[in-house]
Amino acid sequence: MMKRIRLTRLTIAAAAILSLAACSEKAIDIYDYAKNSFVTETITGPLHVFLIGLDGWGSYSLPRADMPTIKRMMAGGAYSLTARAVMPSISSPNWASMFYGSAPALHGYTQNTVKPTFDPVVIDEYGYYPNIFTLLRKIRPAIYIAALYEWGGIADLYPASVVNFNRGIPDLSSNHGSLSVITNYITSISSRDLTFTFIHFDGADHAGHAEGHNTPAYYDMLARLDSYIGEIEQKVIDEGMMDATVFILSADHGGINKSHGGNTTEERQIPFIIYGKNIAPGTVISGDINIYDIAPTICALFGISPPPVWLGRSVLHY
Ligand SMILES: [Zn+2]
Ligand SMILES: [Zn+2]
Repeated sequence: MMKRIRLTRLTIAAAAILSLAACSEKAIDIYDYAKNSFVTETITGPLHVFLIGLDGWGSYSLPRADMPTIKRMMAGGAYSLTARAVMPSISSPNWASMFYGSAPALHGYTQNTVKPTFDPVVIDEYGYYPNIFTLLRKIRPAIYIAALYEWGGIADLYPASVVNFNRGIPDLSSNHGSLSVITNYITSISSRDLTFTFIHFDGADHAGHAEGHNTPAYYDMLARLDSYIGEIEQKVIDEGMMDATVFILSADHGGINKSHGGNTTEERQIPFIIYGKNIAPGTVISGDINIYDIAPTICALFGISPPPVWLGRSVLHY
């Protein structure tokens, strides 16, 4: 039986979603925005955070989808099926919002373009709107960062110089053999203390455009991607990393018929699932979650204060 909680105050979320398991502690350097300098705080570690994004994965699909890995993570972690993509419900504006903790009015991505369509309200020392990649690189210089993406547009959203392993895998959803890039990578990071990994699968979006959303072909692809995520999780377990790992799974948008970009529930409602270290199982998050809350949530996991300009808030606490 799932606990059902209301998150009218985010402080309630902290108590509900973060379990109080005892962990080893270590001192790390973090950045204090008020002082504009690095300070040392104590957080628990080691920590591996995997952000896995399924392009074109609408929440509407979950009841019917054959996704046993995802559904086990939902039951064993915290989730919402009413999280929202920003408008327009297309890829770059939403991946940008996910990474940038902010909406298009702030970061400037309103179309699937290499650069923002208007100037962001602020840029960081890398020339990008402050984002989870540049923030982690700056505040946690020892962290190992990877971005493994099926759609090349992902790589336009952050500077390659801050990512240790930045790799396009253009057949990731269609060629099971390509998954070895990810499983080999997991072996390579198993002895590291701090890692952040973004993985992008494009197959559901492809199936939606080619055959239509909510069709057998779409659900076949979701089942395949679920099995791939299961292999990723199993590799993390086999490498002895699971006790130090948090998985976050979400999407950039859903879709309806053979398209997306509009404001229907099928296009805008996306899953948000968080599972792993210190995440209390069996939590249905019934409060509001927007795609721009994901970067602040990752900041919270790493003990980092998000930049003041960000719009989103961690779903874990404060
Ligand atoms: Zn997309
Ligand atoms: Zn699409």
